[in-house]
Amino acid sequence: MTSSALDVSARRASASLERLGTETAFTVLARANELERRGVDVIHLEIGEPDFATPQHVCDAAAEAIRAGHTHYCASAGLPELREAAAERLSSTRGLAITPANVLVATGAKPFLFFGILATCDPGDEVVYPDPGFPIYESAIRWAGATPVPLPLRDERDFAFDVGELEERLTPRTKLVILNSPHNPTGGVVGRSDLEAAAELIARTSAWVLSDEVYSAMQYDGDFASIASCPGMLERTIVLDGLSKTYAMTGWRCGFAAVPDALVDPIVRFFVNSTSCVPPFVQLAGVAALRGPDDDVRAMLAEFAARRSLVVDGLNSLPGVTCRMPRGAFYAFPNVAGTGFDADELALRLLEEAGVATLAGSAFGAVGRDHLRLSYANSRAKLSEAIHRIASFLAASRP
Ligand code: PLP
Repeated sequence: MTSSALDVSARRASASLERLGTETAFTVLARANELERRGVDVIHLEIGEPDFATPQHVCDAAAEAIRAGHTHYCASAGLPELREAAAERLSSTRGLAITPANVLVATGAKPFLFFGILATCDPGDEVVYPDPGFPIYESAIRWAGATPVPLPLRDERDFAFDVGELEERLTPRTKLVILNSPHNPTGGVVGRSDLEAAAELIARTSAWVLSDEVYSAMQYDGDFASIASCPGMLERTIVLDGLSKTYAMTGWRCGFAAVPDALVDPIVRFFVNSTSCVPPFVQLAGVAALRGPDDDVRAMLAEFAARRSLVVDGLNSLPGVTCRMPRGAFYAFPNVAGTGFDADELALRLLEEAGVATLAGSAFGAVGRDHLRLSYANSRAKLSEAIHRIASFLAASRP
């Protein structure tokens, strides 16, 4: 063997990558884009981001901040102005008293998932998390060497967890419980009484809680409730929110969280080791978003509510498809078992043969396997056309 061949065989990616998952939405998006480059007309229902423009006053604030020279490194924990505005927002929307010292700012909500799990879990610890659920939970749990313990969210409970099933999964080794409401991928919402029951159970353990509330502003009925407002929970809960979904700012990469005292320094240490800080002009735009007028947000929510009805009614009119009315976020999670198609195959063929990009429910966990996830962050005209294409496909195709 030559020395260069030896070098090549030695030059492999780390074996630890086997423990790291991914997000199928980005894989499907790449395939959809490839089809589009070949001239195929694809309707995008796969990616989870609002299709609205970032509010103009937020863009103006960013441009102004750049002109004023806010273009250098800044504090890893976040700018004081944004930590203060976020603390006020987290407090007023959850009925809590959160101090700016407990608020951290990251490049989106995602780093709090990854670093929050790494900062709390050791190999051998157990983490309870929703199934179906945002795929990064399981990926980060495995990366930390901890044991994923899925908590099923089922159709018949409108995708809220069963408190008895949560109780069965809490053990002396449970280090962290991850909750997400309103929920991706189902649009389900956990009501206050279930949160209170969960809080009572969790209070008997030594577990941390990571409450992923990035869709907190997108609940269509009833008041948003956070487990952090249940007695004794705030001091053990990472309350995660951000700008991406609420203000149509997915590409700006700015999220924030209220973090218990003991986790502030560990999580900041992860920031120092990875991203250093969130660009200060982005953070100042975030202050403008949180403190400025919310007309754009209200208009966006009204449009999402109209689309929700259109999509859910359309899906329920399809033979073999049943869809619960999602109560939050901008996803529908129809059960397609009655079509005779395996959901993975259906998602693939809808993209390749009908030009409709959706995600298979299995991308979010085993419990979601009979479902598709459709993001209704697309125009009403496109959504109607997508339903029409799915209907035609089902009428003409066999599994
Ligand atoms: N948590 C959930 C449940 C999500 O659906 C997403 C994005 O899709 C995130 C976190 C990540 O948000 P961000 O884009 O702010 O990192």
